Amino acid sequence: MDKETILQVKDLFVDFRTYAGRVKAIRDVSFDLKKGETLAIVGESGSGKSVTTRTLMGLSAKNAEIKGDILFKGKNLTELSENDWSKVRGNEITMIFQDPMTSLDPTMRIGLQIAEPIMKHEKASKKAALDRALELMKQVGIPNAEEHINDYPHQWSGGMRQRAVIAIALATNPEILIADEPTTALDVTIQAQILQLMKKIQKTSDSSII
Ligand code: ADP
Ligand code: MG
Repeated sequence: MDKETILQVKDLFVDFRTYAGRVKAIRDVSFDLKKGETLAIVGESGSGKSVTTRTLMGLSAKNAEIKGDILFKGKNLTELSENDWSKVRGNEITMIFQDPMTSLDPTMRIGLQIAEPIMKHEKASKKAALDRALELMKQVGIPNAEEHINDYPHQWSGGMRQRAVIAIALATNPEILIADEPTTALDVTIQAQILQLMKKIQKTSDSSII
């Protein structure tokens, strides 16, 4: 059966204006992403993978000049205002970055960090959002989740922190999950576990992964 296309990138160019001149980071990038599909972007260091994914999240650097179309559910994401972006980002499209420490707030309890997008985007009560956070912690394989919901990030290992980041990314049942080298900072056995976990989650949620 033919699956529906949920994201269409057409002729995307990103240039950066710098004091040393113009950096042409990506040129003429086009692809379609279908529902439930995994799309892998492969290339050497500096070839523009992170620039591409950040552009899809509306998180480009200030000196970026973007040309082309990013079509998501009838909207052209390159034309969204920052206010409109805040409804899409972290809700319908979410992202997992390479280093879990930079994605987590060191001063905030992990359970609350997972609950936050649920309160924001689904207007859930704190109690309901924390219940769901606990469920998500179990889903991503945090052992004895009840005992750890009030922990701070520094109390967890790198692999466990990346699971927390995945739980945050999944909290709103996103249609698209963007993972930019989500396991590079982790050791090899943990890398395999995280990739397996993402595959399993994708099967049950039918989300698309880049
Ligand atoms: P990858 O993720 O594939 O390793 P990147 O997407 O991070 O590569 O980078 C692509 C290119 O864009 C690199 O040459 C990088 O130096 C350049 N670049 C990224 N961000 C900026 C910026 N804000 N200003 C200038 N150049 C940038
Ligand atoms: Mg990169």
